[in-house]
Amino acid sequence: MIFKLENSINVRVYLPNTIDVELFIKREDAIHPIISGNKYRKLKYNIEAAKIEGKHTLLTFGGAFSNHIAAVAEAGRVYNLKTIGIIRGEELSSKINDNATLKYAQDCGMQFKFISRTDFRNKEDLDFIGNLKQEFGDFYAIPEGGSNTLAVKGCEEILTKADSNFNYICAPAGTGGTLAGLINASKSNQQVLGFSALKGDFLQEDISKFAKQDNWKLITDYHFGGYAKINAELITFMNAFKALNNVRLDPVYTGKMLFGIQDMIIKDYFPKGSKILVIHTGGLQGITGMNSRLKQKNLPLIQ
Ligand SMILES: *Cc1c(COP(=O)(O)O)cnc(C)c1O
Repeated sequence: MIFKLENSINVRVYLPNTIDVELFIKREDAIHPIISGNKYRKLKYNIEAAKIEGKHTLLTFGGAFSNHIAAVAEAGRVYNLKTIGIIRGEELSSKINDNATLKYAQDCGMQFKFISRTDFRNKEDLDFIGNLKQEFGDFYAIPEGGSNTLAVKGCEEILTKADSNFNYICAPAGTGGTLAGLINASKSNQQVLGFSALKGDFLQEDISKFAKQDNWKLITDYHFGGYAKINAELITFMNAFKALNNVRLDPVYTGKMLFGIQDMIIKDYFPKGSKILVIHTGGLQGITGMNSRLKQKNLPLIQ
């Protein structure tokens, strides 16, 4: 990749009522404003593979506010690859200008195909992929959320030797690819906690597919009703965290995770003296889109 990444720094952060544990956040969000956090890690070896295979086009899938769509679009612009985004929801085709993520991706040169939710569910079918090849020509396909073997390999590079003295490693989970990378790179005496950003228990299985150790656990109590669901309490927490630590959180993943960690600390989940490393997986591009939804609902905005 063109921008050379040094290891992200770990920064001490504070939560109210966290006297008995030490909390550090790994600033993966600082890698790049759009190809941020785990999306950089997941794309790194995939883009390399696309180049090696002589592919000139990346094709991928995502929803209206997807950090992955934004990252692929930006990566295509930076690395000079055509990008195609297969987007969930036909109704969005007329609303690109009202959607900060899609607008950004389009400005990067991404070409969209909007499909129904039913088609989206069946997007892995060989027939469907075959039709896409007919329509767009040859491409390098990246799954929704970007999780594949090469993505997990990239995420294994999030942790460094210096991180081996932490007792806990925490990260949000969407498809679980990032968590699998962290599990594989962790020491067996470390505990890896994944904070599920969505309802449902299919994640457990998805993570197991890629994970090579069993020192991990999925925390499912802090999805706030489901993927991208949000309430005033969460926003207030995120804004307080930013005021205290000068670290901005995203509303879909890292905000919910830190809220959960605070709650678990209060409930004495972590033994006294625990050293906890939290991975800031990025996703800050989504704040603009979320704030326009919050404004419509008369909810407080993310600062
Ligand atoms: C995509 C994303 C995740 C989820 O990563 P998975 O590997 O799909 O579990 C977590 N945090 C942020 C900020 C993301 O953009």
